[in-house]
Amino acid sequence: MLKVVILGDSGVGKTSIMQQYVNKKFSTQYKATIGADFLTKELHIDDRKVVMQIWDTAGQERFQSLGVAFYRGADCCVLMYDVNNAKSFEALDSWRDEFLIQANPSDPESFPFVVIGNKIDVEDTKRAVSMKKAQAFCAAKGNLPYYETSAKENTGVEQAFDVVARNAMQQEEAHSYNQDYSDAIDINMDAESSSCAC
Ligand code: GDP
Ligand code: MG
Repeated sequence: MLKVVILGDSGVGKTSIMQQYVNKKFSTQYKATIGADFLTKELHIDDRKVVMQIWDTAGQERFQSLGVAFYRGADCCVLMYDVNNAKSFEALDSWRDEFLIQANPSDPESFPFVVIGNKIDVEDTKRAVSMKKAQAFCAAKGNLPYYETSAKENTGVEQAFDVVARNAMQQEEAHSYNQDYSDAIDINMDAESSSCAC
């Protein structure tokens, strides 16, 4: 089981890309659900069957308060923006920081992020962030993979999620041991500071 979370400003197309990828559907309106929601997709990577759980927000990203359960145990994080919206691109940095704080991965430097610029089907004149600028950002953040997509027309979606799945699998293999014990409590800690005289 691989866990993937999609982060980015409200309206960039997070719900749409997930629906397109998993259910091959595009709608111009998705009802916000209560609490965090996920879809699962079964896929084969190099002859191995894996189940990818893709978590979507329910609109709480407007307040940047997704709760720790959303982030916990994520194997890959998709950072998504709208290529026609400069503000959504500028927000990527803070989404990345938020992820690292909340998910607290054991090796933050090597944690797999994938950046997606969505809505490339919209006419060229509306484009606010060039591919070059986005690529420069990704290079500066440690060579993050970058994909441009249209959730509406199903362009680039499969390719982007293929890399997401592969990176998630690598991360899971490298760190699953640590994750299993990350919530454990060290019972020896209290014993040392105990004031019990017996
Ligand atoms: P979220 O808030 O990030 O989950 O964004 P949504 O998936 O709800 O999408 C916000 C709006 O953008 C909706 O009206 C979608 O139909 C639209 N949208 C999403 N992806 C695309 C896309 O690739 N192209 C176009 N033209 N519109 C899109
Ligand atoms: Mg949404």
